[in-house]
Amino acid sequence: PVRFMEEYRDPEIARQLISRIGAQSRKPVRLMEVCGTHTMSLFKSGIRTVLPETVSLISGPGCPVCVTDPGDIDAFVDIARTEGVTTVTFGDLIRVPGTTTSLERERAAGADIRVVYSAADALVLARNHPERRIVFLGVGFETTAPTIAASIASAKAEGLSNYSVFSVHKRIVPALFALMEMDIPIDGFLLPGHVSIVIGVEAYRAFFERYRVPCVIAGFEPGDLLDGIRRLVRQIETKRPALENAYPRAVNAEGNLKALALMTSVFTRVDARWRGMGRIPESGLAVGEAFRAFDAHRIFGVVPRDAVEPQGCECGYVITGRKTPPECRLFGKTCSPVHPVGPCMISSEGTCAAYYRYHTKA
Ligand code: SF4
Repeated sequence: PVRFMEEYRDPEIARQLISRIGAQSRKPVRLMEVCGTHTMSLFKSGIRTVLPETVSLISGPGCPVCVTDPGDIDAFVDIARTEGVTTVTFGDLIRVPGTTTSLERERAAGADIRVVYSAADALVLARNHPERRIVFLGVGFETTAPTIAASIASAKAEGLSNYSVFSVHKRIVPALFALMEMDIPIDGFLLPGHVSIVIGVEAYRAFFERYRVPCVIAGFEPGDLLDGIRRLVRQIETKRPALENAYPRAVNAEGNLKALALMTSVFTRVDARWRGMGRIPESGLAVGEAFRAFDAHRIFGVVPRDAVEPQGCECGYVITGRKTPPECRLFGKTCSPVHPVGPCMISSEGTCAAYYRYHTKA
């Protein structure tokens, strides 16, 4: 298996794939990589710089921190300000601005906000601090959602009454539908590897049949990404759109049934708001009725609200591939990884952070 993996990093194989892409590509195409990890890998491996000029890569809405609606940040800030509450979240999120403040600023002002690496850490806090109410900000796609679902199921099984989740989890397929409805010029989708391990190839079938747009599920090694791009270019040039799985060593047709069952038992599908994309039907995962005692939305009576984006920030356009980061006038000036303005610069998977790091080094 190790040799097998190495093939995906082999420079000779990469060179062959690049030349095949060059030989096949005739007309200019815009390919969207939906996943934030793909965005980072494409930059890091230098693939973007070796592709023919006809192939443009645009980043999509696959960075969970970036697509979290500022209104959800505002609501979570309110929870964080509540007496007796300890809020818990992943690192990048605490810097993301809501309308007037961020969790980081609230923490500096005295709120008890902790950063953890997994929902299991949040459960430990709940067990060790029965006097506090522990609220976890659950953000992520179908890759993260099963682990958060597991934490809720464990809390219920243990009878923990001081743990709840503020779920703003998102589903990737409804976002693909929304992108197509926004009339953004996209000739093909490089579909995410990690999410696809959980949801499986067939989860994209209805989307593919509806729009007949080339779709390829790809892994994360340079060879995986180049092979995915090659397949997309071939589909476009031969006018034979298909839903292809270029990551069969990890992704199967029906997905990870155990993870899916866990998610379905704990969460229920709801409409959700995305930064830059607005409300998308059935694109969110809320804590379901059977686990209502662990649902922070219910416990704290959260009502959806409108929020304001940071002034001048174009993240909404970057997330949907309508603008590249350098087209934002704050990029590299008032907005940089040291002083980020929007989530696309804050998140380690954000497109602006990737551009800054790999494109515009001084
Ligand atoms: Fe937002 Fe900064 Fe990106 Fe501009 S460069 S879109 S301000 S994150």
